[in-house]
This record gives sequence, C-alpha cells and structure tokens, in this order.
Amino acid sequence: MSGFVFSEKPIGIDRGEGVHLYDTNGDEYLDFGASYACAPVGHCHPEVVDATTAQIEKLLYVQASYPNAPRTALYEQLADLAPGDIDNVWLCNSGTEANEAALKFARHATGRSKIIATMQGFHGRTMGSLATTWKKQYKQGFEPLAGGVEFVPYGDSEAMREAVDEETAAVIVEPLQGEGGINPASTAYLRTVREATEAAGAAMILDEIQTGLGRTGTLWAADGHGVVPDVLTTAKGLGSGLPVGATLVREWIAEDAGNHGSTFSGGPVVSAAAGATLSVITREDLPSHAAAVGEYLVEQLRDALGESVREVRGEGLMVGVEVKRGANPILRDLAVEHGILALPAGRSVVRLLPPLTVEREHADEVVDALEAIVA
Ligand SMILES: *Cc1c(COP(=O)(O)O)cnc(C)c1O
Repeated sequence: MSGFVFSEKPIGIDRGEGVHLYDTNGDEYLDFGASYACAPVGHCHPEVVDATTAQIEKLLYVQASYPNAPRTALYEQLADLAPGDIDNVWLCNSGTEANEAALKFARHATGRSKIIATMQGFHGRTMGSLATTWKKQYKQGFEPLAGGVEFVPYGDSEAMREAVDEETAAVIVEPLQGEGGINPASTAYLRTVREATEAAGAAMILDEIQTGLGRTGTLWAADGHGVVPDVLTTAKGLGSGLPVGATLVREWIAEDAGNHGSTFSGGPVVSAAAGATLSVITREDLPSHAAAVGEYLVEQLRDALGESVREVRGEGLMVGVEVKRGANPILRDLAVEHGILALPAGRSVVRLLPPLTVEREHADEVVDALEAIVA
C-alpha cells in the first residue's frame, strides 16, 4: 500500500523546533519554506503547543452549534485584527474552503454570479476555488468546474476596470501571487480593484492565504496597500500547521451570506492553536521583523547573485528568486548539499517563505548556499 496524489521527497522529517526541522537520521534542516508558510512562528512554538495540548486534554470537539471558548476568543481576535471594518468571521479547515465560502457569500449577497479572477492566480483545488485558479494542469480532466469565471491579466488596471460590471458578484485576487511565481501587485492596481468593485456593487475578495499573518511585512498585505476588501481569506499558517482557515467578511455581505456550514468549523483545538499563533505574531510584532529581515534578505540575494539569476523579487519574507534554468535542481542541491528546505513557484522560481522568526544569520546561510549553487 502507498499514498498517491502527492509525490514525496526522499527526506523523512521527524521533528521540528523553531526555524529547523530534523530528519529521522537526526540531520538538521533550515526550513526556508516554513512548510508552505504553515509555520509563521516557527515549528512547535511552545505557546502554541501548550495552548493546543491544554485544549486537547479538555475537549477535542463539540458540535459547532454550541459556542466553545477558544472559538469565541478567535472570532474576537480575528475581527480586531482584520483590516478596517471587517468584523464577521467564518471558520473552516483549509484555504480552498475559505475561498469557496467567500465565493458563495459574494454570490448570495449580490444576487449575481460572475466571478473575475486573475491569470497565474491560485485559490485552491476544490471545484469552486479551482475554477478561479489559473493553471491548466490543475484543472485538466476535472471539468466542468463552477461556471461564470472570467480571467484577466494580473496587474492590468485597465483590463480590471473593463471586466468589472453590474453582473459581477466578485473579483478574487491575491495581493502578491505566490504559487504563480511571486508576482507583487502595485498599490495602484489593488486600489483600482477596490474602486471598480465598489462602483459596481461587487465584492472584492482578497486571498491572503499565503500573504497574510505578517508574511509581507504588515499583518495583512491589505494593510500595506491601504486597501480594505469586502472579504479577506486566510489559512496556511493560521493554526501553525493545524487545519484551520477563516473567511473575514464585511457587514453588507455577512448579513445576506446565505446558508453555509461545516461540521468542523471552529473546533476548539484548532481555534486554540490559531489564537495562540495570532497572539505570538502580534505580541512579538513579527510583521515588522519580517519586513526588516526580508529587506536584508533581498539586498543580500541581489548582491550575491547579481547577473547569475534573472530577478529577485518579493515583499517581506515572501521572496522569489527567478533562476535561468529550472528551480527543481537548485532546490534539490539546497536540501541535499546545504540542509536548506525551500519551495518552487512554477518552473523557474525558487520561493522563500521562512518562519517570520528567522534572523539575519539564517538569511546569510541561504544567500551563501544559493551563491554556491548558481553563481
Ligand atoms: C495555498 C493557497 C490556497 C489553498 O489553500 P489550501 O489550504 O491548500 O486549500 C489558496 N490560495 C492561496 C493564495 C494559497 O497560497
């Protein structure tokens, strides 16, 4: 018997602590992908482990129709931290579910069906979210997906203005495309999305599943751009690796969001983990730390790699190095020769998404390793 669907890497990870992972031989790896951005405060942060363990011993699950204290606390925490006046929270188990809910809520509240998504965008793999994901390989053989989705070029304000009309329920967009290759959007572009949706009575759904929780140097990328969407989705690092996502919703959508539900919505254990994760991020001001270390990382990468790569780009600790050949052999060398785990974004981008707790010395390690491999 064996698993299928995922291809596995030939490293058996056994244990994690802070910015490091350890394999079954006891060898140490610097986790510069934060396991898909799921360890924003580092692996097994003691505060997250303690809060989660205490909750596990008390109550693993109660049906979602009864309030549970960690969930109530998490609702408040998320509403407090959300941009602007967004203060309604729907909890789920993953990123794709957070977006699935966002699309449903927007359709119901507007009474419209058209959804606008962006080329190279990634929003998940369930039938609805997948319909708004760009990459053909992810969709092949699974059609028909949810209908009514139109794609526009990412970053093109004019195309966005033309596409959004009185039939549009929502625009779904990442403030910085992750999976699609680490493509940042300008403030002007995101403000255009905001203005166009507002003028048409459509919802702006900002997918912050990868960019949120301090990764780009502000708690939400929306904060950095001074944009308040109607719906903001988060997941990945929210529960430090436990399965939890959230759809944060403005009042006009929440009051007419329709019928939705999920058995595990806001379970006490994942809520405890998410509450503790958010507390560490805000108390230690990890977004500012991410901004400072991220800026240093990008500078050092540009200095060290120069012309041997195409481009170094990103915001905060969401950084892409676009290489001249495939990213995969570089990722392999990083792991095997240098004990550094990173991620690809498409074929030619090495994606760096370390825990927000990394220090300059860790950035130096990665820069030296990449220089040794590509320069
Ligand atoms: C990872 C990701 C998703 C999907 O999240 P899952 O938890 O894998 O379903 C959606 N949007 C963005 C921007 C992501 O990075």
